[in-house]
Amino acid sequence: MGLFGKKPLKIGLIGLGKIAVDQHIPSIRGNKRLELVAGCSPHTRPEGVNAYPDMDAMMTAHPEIEAIAICTPPQIRHEIAKQVISIGRHVFLEKPPAATLGEAEAIKMLAEAKGVSLLASWHSRFAPAVEATRKWVSERQIKSITIHWKENVRQWHPGQKWIFEAGGMGVFDPGINSLSILTRILADSVMVKSADLHIPVNCDAPIQVEMDMMTEVGFPIRAEYDFLQTGVQTWSIYIESTSYEKLTLSMGGTELEIDGHTVIKQKEAEYAGLYAHFHDLIRAGKSDADFSPLRIVADAMLLGKRIAAPEYIE
Ligand code: NAP
Repeated sequence: MGLFGKKPLKIGLIGLGKIAVDQHIPSIRGNKRLELVAGCSPHTRPEGVNAYPDMDAMMTAHPEIEAIAICTPPQIRHEIAKQVISIGRHVFLEKPPAATLGEAEAIKMLAEAKGVSLLASWHSRFAPAVEATRKWVSERQIKSITIHWKENVRQWHPGQKWIFEAGGMGVFDPGINSLSILTRILADSVMVKSADLHIPVNCDAPIQVEMDMMTEVGFPIRAEYDFLQTGVQTWSIYIESTSYEKLTLSMGGTELEIDGHTVIKQKEAEYAGLYAHFHDLIRAGKSDADFSPLRIVADAMLLGKRIAAPEYIE
């Protein structure tokens, strides 16, 4: 594998749903160092993509594929990643890296043993204002952090039944993006102290969550996740320092306000950054597999109080 030099890296996709079509396909096509060779998915056939019903059919037709991005729902990610690694292809995992920590660790060990690169992607870490936030945080003593990640599931996840099934994570599916930013901007580790998990009586995963966390140095972090938000949609992190300076990272990390002044307001280009990172990892023979956001979700599920919520009908 790994024909570098001037040849673009040949990529295949597994799972051709919303994120593959919205982000992966255009981001690969927008990077001269990459080539989208083909994809596979049981039913979906995006226009202009060589598409096959499964990985075996894709790899038989295109054995030249060197790296594969897995864009399926998380419940089947481990089994698919295992197959991809067994044939010696580099792996890009959509977030979350797997349905459980055990599966994620197993994928990491398999990739190491086979000598392929693994990217457990966290797209929100590539939002334009995340690094500036990290720097601001590293230069101050922090008093508290509050996360509001509130979106309308009917608007953003139509037809995605898997999200409310066991292993689909419910509102943690977007919520984990905020945790990927949190774990990137803090040097300290984060522990879950309590969580209220509101689970619709006809679903297996939460639709709303209120969670309290604490860092090792001892400042509180409060997260509120809501899948039933109508009107204004909020993907914000509010940070206060011990000297009362205030930072707001909003719109998923594209906007940064410090003490009431807008410092950054940029268009998002998360997947362009992610794919450049994937290419560089493979070129360097490295992997990037940090599961700390998944660990926080797993801990919330271990510690959280389950509260019955009204039936959810899409
Ligand atoms: P989605 O629209 O439901 O798409 C998932 C796709 O996986 C479907 O198209 C489905 O195929 C395919 N699939 C199911 N079983 C498969 C299998 N055995 N082999 C190959 N493909 C299979 O979901 P999504 O929104 O794209 O989300 C996928 C992942 O990306 C999730 O982990 C999600 O958290 C993450 N993500 C989503 C977003 C977003 O905005 N939607 C953003 C970032 C990350 P068919 O359609 O062919 O049946």
